[in-house]
Amino acid sequence: MSKHTVRKSAIDTIAKVKPAGGAVDYLETDVRDVYSCNVFTDTIQRERLPKDIYKKLQATINSGKGLDSAIADSVAVAMRDWAIEGGATHYCHWFQPMTGSTAEKHDSFIEPDGGGVVMKFSGKDLVRGEPDASSFPSGGLRATFEARGYTAWDPSSSAFLLEGPNGVTLVIPTMFISWTGEALGAKTPLLRSDAAISNATLRLLKLFGNNEATRIASSLGAEQEYFLVDKHFALHRPDLTNCGRTLFGAKPPKGQELDDNYFGAIEERVIACMAEMEYELIKIGVPIKTRHNEVAPGQFELAPTFEASNIAADHQMITMEILRRVSDRHGFVCLFHEKPFAGVNGSGKHVNWSIGADVGGNLLNPGDNPHDNAQFIAILAACCRAVHNYAPLLRITAASAGNDHRLGANEAPPAIISIYLGAQLTDVLDTIESGKKSKAGKTKPLELGVSMLPKLPRDAGDRNRTSPFAFTGNKFEFRAVGSNQNPSAAITVINTIVAESIDYLCDELVKAAKTKTPTEAQLNKALQKVLPKIVKDFRPVIFNGDGYTQEWKDEAAKRGLPNLPTTPEALDYINKKDIVALFKKYGVFSKKELDSRKEIHLENYASILKIEADTTLVMARTMLLPAALKYQTQVAEAYISLKAAGIDSETQANILGDLAGTIDAFSASIDTLAAAIAHDAPAAAMKHACYMRDTVLAAMNECRELGDALETVCNDELWPIPSYNEMLFIR
Ligand code: ADP
Ligand code: MG
Repeated sequence: MSKHTVRKSAIDTIAKVKPAGGAVDYLETDVRDVYSCNVFTDTIQRERLPKDIYKKLQATINSGKGLDSAIADSVAVAMRDWAIEGGATHYCHWFQPMTGSTAEKHDSFIEPDGGGVVMKFSGKDLVRGEPDASSFPSGGLRATFEARGYTAWDPSSSAFLLEGPNGVTLVIPTMFISWTGEALGAKTPLLRSDAAISNATLRLLKLFGNNEATRIASSLGAEQEYFLVDKHFALHRPDLTNCGRTLFGAKPPKGQELDDNYFGAIEERVIACMAEMEYELIKIGVPIKTRHNEVAPGQFELAPTFEASNIAADHQMITMEILRRVSDRHGFVCLFHEKPFAGVNGSGKHVNWSIGADVGGNLLNPGDNPHDNAQFIAILAACCRAVHNYAPLLRITAASAGNDHRLGANEAPPAIISIYLGAQLTDVLDTIESGKKSKAGKTKPLELGVSMLPKLPRDAGDRNRTSPFAFTGNKFEFRAVGSNQNPSAAITVINTIVAESIDYLCDELVKAAKTKTPTEAQLNKALQKVLPKIVKDFRPVIFNGDGYTQEWKDEAAKRGLPNLPTTPEALDYINKKDIVALFKKYGVFSKKELDSRKEIHLENYASILKIEADTTLVMARTMLLPAALKYQTQVAEAYISLKAAGIDSETQANILGDLAGTIDAFSASIDTLAAAIAHDAPAAAMKHACYMRDTVLAAMNECRELGDALETVCNDELWPIPSYNEMLFIR
């Protein structure tokens, strides 16, 4: 067998693959019956729970307050019976530890009972789980010998049935908490931040005379980008298997330069896979809405309709899991890495965020009357102030080893956090700030609460894709978050910093109005007095231009906006004094929790770089170098044969010479990388992370460049790993 068997036989196999048949026939099945059919929904709860228990449970869910433990047993029985009728054999507490992904421990319902078994699931089983927490990252929150942590049921996020190839599992969304009460996962801080934004916003609404709303909730719509690569290729790439991204790979002749993939017709094999992903997701109540081809070849996007953040975040995490599973069934590997392929776009996760009141709806919706407009402008201004004052904190929520390859790479928002508002809103703010006529000269001086705002465009025309934080008509879209990241961190931070700004605004308004219960006229006057200064202070963060340009980087520096291009420098901010004070004030993170997160993220960053470096080394030494040497032998043999035949070919000599030069350089780069890896790394987490970035990653990049150069000259039949062309275009 020739050496190229692996790649050529993969192509031959894929050529014969037919799109899989549908998982569901929608001519037979009504999608409305499928939606949430595996969720312990409100309707199911009402049907199955005693009335008083149902009411208590709903009260818990709606208030966001603690659960009355007396009702847990009743709920557990109903949930168990419903789950067993749905085929469940196991239940699991499902949580989001600080690994960035999800974790689950399954327990069977069966309990031995005098020779047979009974199906048991008590209130205690529902409310609390005790996974051995010692192997999850805690960043020093919990010594390993004191392994106890527990998971606590989150009744606001519905339990659901997850179908597997051989059985069904009842999945219970939970928080992960240390024995001493610290948050070990992503959910607890998110819920705490939701309480913070609720309290602050209610306070503001009261100043505006809105006393009906009792609860404010943040909403999240997370757009997920991903790549699909045929397994026959992906499994032959140790870099994809180990790291989720390619560590070698020469640029293919065709990339994304024709712009022919974005919103292009979706191939049948892919759409079959997408349809099954969606089918699995809507069964568990994830409201999947949108699917399309993305910019890079082989890249796609899926987006749900927004929901309350806590639920949407859970749905987002299970979405990634389902995408992985279903793509595997269809012969694909699904890549969530932020930059799986050099030279083409990477993947993000746009986090769409807004706040809504139980009475009154979306608060980032400009209203139809002057009063609503004034409230909208006040909240918008608070959001802008928050982003301006806590930009590094937002940057942290998008910081990861993977996303470092994406942010600022002229395809994704830069690492400088700025806000896009669009021309019209910016003009409105300018008018407020100056207290004069707008620059455009069209609008009169804006009297908040009295005059009307100009009608704002709601459509997608006025878009700026290069902005990390864009106002898109009735919500903000935070575009820096990476495709592989849990969106909870971003939501937690946005909620908290906006809560702080809303509180600040309330304080200032009360001061200016000299009363805690201003009349409408007093409030409008106070707004007129307070807002100009706030706008003036946050004005530098507003940028409507092209965020990809060098000019913006220079301009941002002049404006004093922080530019934190890599993860370690961003993480340095996480436990700075003002950040600690902010989170403490709102009870979202304690100092200990922040310290632990810094430690964990830095360690994670260094570990990822170490795995990548080791994989680069192994691939270079055991796959690429041998292939290059074999090719060198072929060329040398050809040269010798020609010479023996009396032909002294200069071309042959040159090919051989150039090749030898590149191989020598490649070999030397391998040695440099090996030395960088073997070097005693600094012990302190920050220093270690920086060492990995500055020395090890740099050595990897050098090695890659030479490896890729060899790929472009080496005999294709000898090249041992699937090429970019194959992975991106052959399905
Ligand atoms: P795009 O043009 O950015 O693709 P869409 O308007 O289609 O944007 O919305 C993208 C995402 O934003 C969807 O998930 C959508 O549900 C979500 N979204 C819309 N309104 C809100 C809101 N009020 N809060 C949070 N997310 C929202
Ligand atoms: Mg979007």
